[in-house]
Amino acid sequence: MKKNTQHLGMGVRIGAGFVVVLALMVALSAISLNYVAEANQRLRDIAHNNNVKTELATTMHSALRERALSMHALPILADPFEKEIEVQRFGEQGIIYLQARNRFERMPLNPQEKEILAHILKLTREAQSETRALVEAAIFSTSQTKILDRLRSVAMPKQHAIAEQVSALIDLQRQQTTAAVLDAKNSYERVRNLMLGLGAAALLVGMMIAWFVSRQVAQQAKQLAVQAMYDPLTGLANRSLLHDQLDHEIELSKRAHTPFGVVLMDLDRFKEVNDTLGHNVGDELLREVGRRLQEAVRAVDTVARLGGDEYVVLIHSLKPTDVPIVANKILDTLDKPFHWKNRSIDISASLGFSLYPSQCTDASGLLRCADIAMYVAKRAGKGYALYAPDQEHTNLSDLSLKSELREAIQSDQLSLHYQPQINHRSRRVVGVEALVRWNHPSRGFLAPDQFIPLAEDAGLIGPLTHWVLKTALKQLATLHRQGHDLTMAVNLSARDLQDMELPASILTLLAAYGIAPGKLTLEITESAVMANPGDGLAILTELDRMGVVIAIDDFGTGYSSLAYLKRLPVDELKIDKSFVTDMEENDNGAVIVRSTIDLAHNLGLKVIAEGVETRAAWDILEILGCDCSQGYLMARPMPAEKLEAWLQETAQPGIEMAVLA
Ligand code: C2E
Ligand code: CA
Ligand code: CA
Repeated sequence: MKKNTQHLGMGVRIGAGFVVVLALMVALSAISLNYVAEANQRLRDIAHNNNVKTELATTMHSALRERALSMHALPILADPFEKEIEVQRFGEQGIIYLQARNRFERMPLNPQEKEILAHILKLTREAQSETRALVEAAIFSTSQTKILDRLRSVAMPKQHAIAEQVSALIDLQRQQTTAAVLDAKNSYERVRNLMLGLGAAALLVGMMIAWFVSRQVAQQAKQLAVQAMYDPLTGLANRSLLHDQLDHEIELSKRAHTPFGVVLMDLDRFKEVNDTLGHNVGDELLREVGRRLQEAVRAVDTVARLGGDEYVVLIHSLKPTDVPIVANKILDTLDKPFHWKNRSIDISASLGFSLYPSQCTDASGLLRCADIAMYVAKRAGKGYALYAPDQEHTNLSDLSLKSELREAIQSDQLSLHYQPQINHRSRRVVGVEALVRWNHPSRGFLAPDQFIPLAEDAGLIGPLTHWVLKTALKQLATLHRQGHDLTMAVNLSARDLQDMELPASILTLLAAYGIAPGKLTLEITESAVMANPGDGLAILTELDRMGVVIAIDDFGTGYSSLAYLKRLPVDELKIDKSFVTDMEENDNGAVIVRSTIDLAHNLGLKVIAEGVETRAAWDILEILGCDCSQGYLMARPMPAEKLEAWLQETAQPGIEMAVLA
């Protein structure tokens, strides 16, 4: 969409540029043509007037010459008849001259012409009486020599003077025509120069537009290339650039015979940060991780983000023996807590290494191997793992495990183990926690950590939870019948908090086995609640309204606060076993457990500790006011029959548990 508008904007700009150039060319042509037309008109006018004037002046000139000839002839002619004709011609020439002069005077005249004409008029007027007298003398045959004398000395010079002025007029016309032609030539020259100038300007504008547009296009192309190659959030290389780099590195490695490695890294519990603290914090964390990764590796190594919380580092010339060094460098840089406002968030990650060319020989293969290794590292909870071919089976078998799990839920391969929960004050069993096991036909007993994530992935949590609830409540009914007034704790998964039918199906099961809702405890981790803020709260509220007990499991390992818990319909807190272990080892752990217990009590919540393995732990918890405890010290999780026997032995009324005595 954005690309389209960019293209559109570009098109509009190019179009506008051409319109500007076109308009410039049109204006230029119009101006020039107008200029040329004006010059032409001027030249035409001048040429026409000058032609007319030249003709008139020439007429005047020849009339004057004819009259002069007549004046010469008159005294000589003896025949009165011939004289008569000559006088008539003399008169006619005078009229022709006058008519021509009059017409000349009516033409548009310039000052110079006016001056010459005035001069001619003055000379004519001066010569008039003399000429007339001479003509009359000639007609009446006065002395011929006298007349010729006067003609030569007086009349002719005057006639000459007039003729000279008329010649000047003719000359003037010629000069003016020459000047007009020159002027027109100059005009054409100017127009040509103007055309050239404006043409050059239009060309320049066109070139500028072309330059501007091509620069924009180049910039956009560059931007698109960057967008296509880099992750916008962190600025790191993205998947496609990484693949390019991997191919490049493979080529280099083939030529130089140097090995290299690929690290795939996945942050642990990133989803929890995102869900609990918001996407802004999540994004900031992802950026910071990117920065730290870049600092941890060399400049020649490529750090990329594949999306989500998955990063890949391409390590130049990496030998198998260097793997632990690089891994620890990366893990160390992530070990420093990440600070956000006043909180500090611990981040940890799992790394998977694969090596070229010893393990995989193409880009996709390297990433796949690194992925398998990363998965192994995550499973084992040990920061990093180097790919080994036999790891494949674990991963591949996940696929078959998923379909087998579907089968297992229906065909009784699952079973429940129950772990007793003991009250500190009475030292008696008050409840049990149901923990699921999978008795796999070929793999033997599988712990829930090995298949609960698979069930979540495969969308099998709903049927699994239903099976556990049904089995546990049925067992509880049996225990109740045997006289053990216990509660039953069942673990829920985050996915269960998206199932709006859950409260209704629990109600049905409670009714079916005749169990009071208060005897069922549902254990939910903080992060499960945080991951489903809307539906989760609605489901919990409904369960609470039904009278079911809600406990927060693994308390303290997530990012929620007691203040947040106050808003949830929670009845119990289970302190995570890691704090119980810590408590024995250092004072800090004891402080955390103490404050958790105090705050929980202030909020009216019951506190259960899990993972109590030693007598010392039990004692400390007791001193700190913990309500109940659960752990290997008292009892390991056990199958139903064993639990029944165990209860028979240890939970007789009035008999304290031996280990706690
Ligand atoms: P959890 O709810 O925290 O369960 C307690 C785990 O700690 C159990 O592991 C239990 O065997 C173990 N444990 C008990 N006492 C001690 C002790 O003194 N020391 C030590 N080191 N461990 C102790 P388990 O059975 O492997 O369960 C692991 C997790 O699997 C559970 O953690 C729970 O989150 C999940 N899970 C178990 N059953 C179910 C189930 O039916 N549904 C769901 N959704 N999750 C389940
Ligand atoms: Ca639990
Ligand atoms: Ca726990």
